[in-house]
Amino acid sequence: MVYNSLFQRLTQALLPFRCLLCLAPCEHHAQICLPCRDDLPRISSPCEQCALPLPNLTQSRFCAHCLHRTPAFSHTFCPFLYAFPVSRLIAKFKHQQQFALGHLLAQLWLEDYLQSPTRATPALLMPVPLHRQRRWTRGFNQSRLLAETWSKALDIRLHDDLYRRRDTPSQQGLSAIQRRRNLRGAFAISHPELVSGKHIALVDDVMTTGTTANALAAILLRAGATRVDIWCLARTPAPARRDQQE
Ligand SMILES: [Zn+2]
Ligand SMILES: [Zn+2]
Repeated sequence: MVYNSLFQRLTQALLPFRCLLCLAPCEHHAQICLPCRDDLPRISSPCEQCALPLPNLTQSRFCAHCLHRTPAFSHTFCPFLYAFPVSRLIAKFKHQQQFALGHLLAQLWLEDYLQSPTRATPALLMPVPLHRQRRWTRGFNQSRLLAETWSKALDIRLHDDLYRRRDTPSQQGLSAIQRRRNLRGAFAISHPELVSGKHIALVDDVMTTGTTANALAAILLRAGATRVDIWCLARTPAPARRDQQE
């Protein structure tokens, strides 16, 4: 025991923790330094509904897409843009099972959430489901891990009741109509009575077009949820001709 702790102190002295991004000395394991934290790509003026970055000088609180076709969800809380280095941190968490990075991202998200003046606390958190085959290959559902951290930190109940009936091909490169068709009937909920009358936050790691979030929010509203919000780490920037695609 004594030797273990001596060994630990010796290795810490010789190999102090380093910032994951710039290698500057850091106090803790799997952390990033303050300058790197300040440099993370944040969404400064998000659309209130889908968190898409709004164009400069716009007077509107909503993006053109949400004004054109109102999503089923009410609000998205998403502090980061899906750009380097956030995209790299998420990829390592998701595809290389670097859980310490998942924890770090969840903590960074929490810091922003707790400072948000407009936050409305939901009654339930529900992770976006992975198909069981994909979950088996990946070994875990990244959205479930994020939801667990946020549920504990904010003392909000977690229900993992949404599931995928079938695996869906990648949404990439599909038109808006194809994406919606691709997801038709793909999701279901095990215990609809549990969401009835409740304000729910759906938890996801990255929001791209919002089609999945929209499909799930519609299911929850049909089951009687009073409001559905999206909580995610990062949002992809708007693709070209986005309004044509969704
Ligand atoms: Zn750094
Ligand atoms: Zn929007």
